[in-house]
Amino acid sequence: MPVLDEQLIPVFDEVVSRNPGETEFHQAVREVLESLGPVVAKHPEYADGEVIRRLCEPERQIIFRVPWVDDAGRVQLNRGFRVEFNSALGPYKGGLRFHPTVYLGIVKFLGFEQIFKNSLTGMPIGGGKGGSDFDPKGRSDAEVMRFCQSFMTELYRHIGEYTDVPAGDIGVGGREIGYLFGQYKRITNVYESGVLTGKGLTWGGSLVRTEATGYGTVFFVNEMLSTGGDSFDGKRAVVSGSGNVAIYAIEKVHQLGGRVIACSDSDGYVVEESGIDLDLLKEVKEERRGRLADYAQRRGSSACYSANGSIWSVPCDIALPCATQNELNGTDAKQLVANGCQIVAEGANMPATPEAIDVLRASGVRFAPGKAANAGGVATSALEMQQNASRDSWTFEYTEERLEKIMRSIHRRCLETADEYGATGDYVVGANIAGFTQVADAMLALGII
Ligand code: GLU
Repeated sequence: MPVLDEQLIPVFDEVVSRNPGETEFHQAVREVLESLGPVVAKHPEYADGEVIRRLCEPERQIIFRVPWVDDAGRVQLNRGFRVEFNSALGPYKGGLRFHPTVYLGIVKFLGFEQIFKNSLTGMPIGGGKGGSDFDPKGRSDAEVMRFCQSFMTELYRHIGEYTDVPAGDIGVGGREIGYLFGQYKRITNVYESGVLTGKGLTWGGSLVRTEATGYGTVFFVNEMLSTGGDSFDGKRAVVSGSGNVAIYAIEKVHQLGGRVIACSDSDGYVVEESGIDLDLLKEVKEERRGRLADYAQRRGSSACYSANGSIWSVPCDIALPCATQNELNGTDAKQLVANGCQIVAEGANMPATPEAIDVLRASGVRFAPGKAANAGGVATSALEMQQNASRDSWTFEYTEERLEKIMRSIHRRCLETADEYGATGDYVVGANIAGFTQVADAMLALGII
């Protein structure tokens, strides 16, 4: 495991003792601190202003009760969260996750990563994240609506176009954003389009926002390939997950000449040598909220479905973990290396464990961390905010071009920063330092607040 700079050990120890049991948050903080040794050596002002210590403490954390009534008339109870982590660069910005595993440690890890990711986009957005332990799986539309209305009945007082702008994440897509926006509008009596992103196209949404996280990840990988004089042409890719990020990552890989031969959901994975049939996948997952097993059944003998084992055992050139945190461990990484994988890029947030990252880096596999590779989603949210602020809406082509430019610029910043700090080619170091310095400089300029 990489060592922490001596000056940063007490910072990390304090994070662990102040946030007991929040292991995902500790993991996310440690990963950033491991990159910052050369920064504090070169710039003592960051240590003097206690800026790193302050960065690890959220500006505000909100936890609230979310009661709602299910279709059988029973009262259900969930817990809601919004962690407003850092607003040095702009209003808090980051998604909401609805999943039974959500607790404060998950929201904090996501919010912490969001600070650096949002900084890397070059857009004026701070970092935040929220969500609930509510499980939308198996719930009717009416139940989801009642839950969202109850959630917003508390959240509305904390958010706003200039304050905090939530969006989607796992379990929160266009349907949920619609119910949340409707309730916000109803309570405040203001049509404040810029308060949420990921909206529908007829009520303030942006073209390309749905596709942006997956497309952006693949644009980033395309940059990695082209700096090595290579391209997607003929490459075999494995994409874990089959939700919004995975679906549009698959679509862009196919558009750029590669072939995605496997994807997964929480029950299993499917391998299809001729390439995943995206139209069918969209129909099963997006329109019917179905399972991958249904997809495999409909594909018949061309698809091979496994309910056991790991998708990372499927040989590939490029691996794109697009499902959830810690889904790719050290053993999986060894398997990918043994199978000749050359690039791993995180479409999800923190999908690779620290052990996996160590294995990949030690074996010379090029690894792109989520805060750089999947920043296209939130970057396009910022483009949605721009369109809302100017009461304008842009074409698909123009918006996609902007997204591609942003991903190229993030890629360039990662490599330039890694170079500057003596870690040539290391995207983890590049992303962490480039994201950090911009936020830290703003925090120092704003005084001790
Ligand atoms: N949840 C996404 C992320 O992890 C998007 C956040 C947003 O658009 O605000 O970056």
